[in-house]
Amino acid sequence: MASKGDFHTHSTASDGVLSPAELVDLAASQGVRYHALTDHDSTEGIAEARAAAARHAGYTLIPGVEMGTDIEGAEVHMLGLCLSPDDEELQVLLRRLRAGRVGRGFGIVEKLRGLGIMITWERVQEIAGEASVGRPHIAQALVEGGYVPKVADAFDRWIGRNGPAYVERDKMTPAESVRCIVERGGMACLAHPADLHDLDALLAELTAAGMAAMEVFYKDYATETVERLRQTAERHGLLPLGGSDYHGIFGNDEPLPGNIPLPDSAIERFLDAAARLPNRDLVR
Ligand code: AMP
Ligand code: ZN
Ligand code: FE
Ligand code: FE
Repeated sequence: MASKGDFHTHSTASDGVLSPAELVDLAASQGVRYHALTDHDSTEGIAEARAAAARHAGYTLIPGVEMGTDIEGAEVHMLGLCLSPDDEELQVLLRRLRAGRVGRGFGIVEKLRGLGIMITWERVQEIAGEASVGRPHIAQALVEGGYVPKVADAFDRWIGRNGPAYVERDKMTPAESVRCIVERGGMACLAHPADLHDLDALLAELTAAGMAAMEVFYKDYATETVERLRQTAERHGLLPLGGSDYHGIFGNDEPLPGNIPLPDSAIERFLDAAARLPNRDLVR
């Protein structure tokens, strides 16, 4: 069943395939009424998404980002909701994070070439265009070159975290990203937490840093996982949110925007909390 809320989606401003306007149109057509655009380290799609949002009655765009952060041995993704694209300090940070992606993407391509996989950095940049460049763009170059059948195989075989061509980039810690989101007036929400080890300890640290929400209703999480995370969120006083993490790059079984079991009560709780944020005027 489609939900009226989707708090996690990607456009061509990072590694999604739909332009911000196309994504907004798709989400609205699916019945989504509260929709966050959360591109990786970028708010560059927000202006276009807002213009498209104005065409849909009863639809609210929530400007956001997704930031990659690191803890020992694992990647932790943090959503920043209700962040202003006009916030110059935020933009300084996001530009720095995107610059780190360029050096790291180039490094991954060099490693691949060392392994005899002769894709080029120029082609990856063409695929990415103006976007915040990421591994999915490299994966697309690998598919195009006939090195793997699907994007997901590129991660399994070469560029996943433990893959032979993986290269790390400079990242913040999760607590640093939470503090930065809160300082910029937004709401921090831990993304896809199901596989994180020692989740309770991490949540204790991140709620202390000011994190207010966590994804519970995520993409293809099983009913039991959703229930476990719902209880975990409740225990830590976190708003249970969630999203489709729609990219449009993973083939036909990828859930469309809004295709998550997020209940209306979660949207209501989000709106209550958003109304108390320094950036409350951004949710309209
Ligand atoms: P990056 O931001 O460059 O580190 O790439 C991370 C993005 O790659 C995630 O947001 C996903 O869209 C995608 N991704 C990460 N791991 C996988 C995987 N195992 N299979 C498919 N896509 C993945
Ligand atoms: Zn992505
Ligand atoms: Fe993510
Ligand atoms: Fe995502």
